[in-house]
Parts: sequence; structure tokens; C-alpha cells
Amino acid sequence: MKYQEILNEIEIELSKKLKSGKIASYIPELAKIDQNKLGMHLYCINSGHYGFGDEKEKFSIQSISKVFSLTMAMNLVGDKLFSRVDVEPSGDPFNSLVQLEYENGIPRNPFINAGALVIADVLVSNLENPKKEFLNFIHKISGDDSIRVNDKVFESEKKFSHRNAALLNLMKSFGNIQNDIETVLDLYIYQCAIEMSCHELTTAFMIYANGGKMLSNNIQVISTTGIKRINAIMQTCGFYDEAGEFSFRVGLPGKSGVGGGIAAIHPGQYAVTVWSPLLNPKGNSAVGMYALERLTTLTGLSIF
Ligand code: GLN
Repeated sequence: MKYQEILNEIEIELSKKLKSGKIASYIPELAKIDQNKLGMHLYCINSGHYGFGDEKEKFSIQSISKVFSLTMAMNLVGDKLFSRVDVEPSGDPFNSLVQLEYENGIPRNPFINAGALVIADVLVSNLENPKKEFLNFIHKISGDDSIRVNDKVFESEKKFSHRNAALLNLMKSFGNIQNDIETVLDLYIYQCAIEMSCHELTTAFMIYANGGKMLSNNIQVISTTGIKRINAIMQTCGFYDEAGEFSFRVGLPGKSGVGGGIAAIHPGQYAVTVWSPLLNPKGNSAVGMYALERLTTLTGLSIF
């Protein structure tokens, strides 16, 4: 496949397209990002790296971090995790409180905020130094020890985390949070404030495209059953109440974040990341979705 030619074509198409959407401003520090940033990187199992634009510039990974925390929690506690968090699409916004009340504090899936907060609780219970080990995990799968948290984004979200604190309190009232609320919230905000480039995220996501193995050294990071589960959850829940639309238009498992990133994979083929900060009303990168739709259309390949 001529991936670089296809990416070049996507870059030209995007330069002609009128950009719509809004930067996430409920985390004030994210609102400072230049809305014209645009990068895309594809890492093919058989033929290596391709990309364009701001593909090497770091951005806030936000909810894309939920894929990494899920992977770590599954490795720590296995399938019993899924007695505390379900695996059904929510059909609701990422930070919604409504379902939790009538579903007795069990979040619909690990990628809405409530679910990711339960996962953070599992990490706090099972790791000695969860923040450090979370970052170490990312260093390992991306092969890059320079990846860090953006302290300003971390502090900025901390000041405006009332809704996530509300989710935690509600779940704690149902007995589904075991640790101190502040500690769990702190880890969750920390993981969201990690900064990575399209190039780095794509390399990290290779484990999901490559049957759970790192491509660089063949080390199995998560079992093949684990990969089946994580990719299925990305497919059905990776875009909140727009997961159906993403499947319909793009046809790949993936995960978005309010920093404007979308990482996706084609199992056995490639991992790919797009970054463009303007978000559509559902909180997913508008240009990112379009670029990935063009990728699967121009290659003629999706998972379907
Ligand atoms: N840190 C953000 C929050 O909890 C992540 C949301 C997202 O990327 N969708 O609101």
C-alpha cells in the first residue's frame, strides 16, 4: 500500500476543507492550543512510518490514556475487572452522571469518565506508585523515556474537576470505589495530562494492532484475549455517543481525547494517530474523524 501518497492526498484535501468545531475550554489550559495544528502519523507493521504536518509535536492525550489504563488494569486483575465496569456503549456524553444512578454505580464501559475512574481506583489499589508505573508503562510501549506530564494541564484540570469528583462520590456511595476520592482523581487527571506526539502515540498503539506484542522486540504486553477485549471496547465505546458514527464512517477501533487526538488501529496492519484540536459537538476531533474516514476510503480497507 502506498501509504505516504495516500497521506499526502489527505493533507491536501484537509488544507482545502473549511475547519469547524471548538477547542475544549472547560480545561482552561487546553484552550490555549493553536487551533490550526494538524498532524497525522501511520505506522505499518510491514513497512514502517509515514506522516505529515505536526506529527512530532506533543499534545495532551486526555482520554486516549484510558486505553493504557485499561490495559494495565486487565493485566493486574484480569476479567474480574468487568464485574465493576461494564462493556456496553453508553449513548451518553463522556462525563454524564445520569446512567450511573439507575445502574447502581456500575459504569457502562471503561472509556466514559466514570469507567476510567473505576479503572484508576483499581490501579491505586494494586500499584505501589501508580503515577510512576503508569508513565513507565507508556515509556515501555512507546520506546520513549522522554514522555512526560504537562504540569500546567494537570493543575488546570484539577481546578475544574467537580464533575469527575461527583462521579467518584456517586460511585463510592454504591461501594464501587475503594480508595480515597482525592487519590483516585489525582491519578486520573495525571494520566489525562500526559503529552505525546502523533508519532509517539502511534508507536504505543502498535501493541493493539500487533496482537498485544511490541513490534520492536516481540515482547507480549497483553494477552491475545486481552487484545480482543480492548479492541472490541474501542470499536463500540471509543467515541462516547458517537461510536456508531465512527464505526460507520471510519470502520476501525479507536479512541479519542478532548486534546484533539484520535488513535486507531487496523489489526494486523497498522496503527494511526491524527491530531487536530477543534472538536465536534460530541467532543471528538472533527478533522481527525474526517482524515481517518478518508484513510479507510482511499485504502479501500477497514476492519469490515
Ligand atoms: N480529562 C478529561 C475529563 O475528564 C478527559 C475527557 C476526554 O478526553 N474526553 O474530562
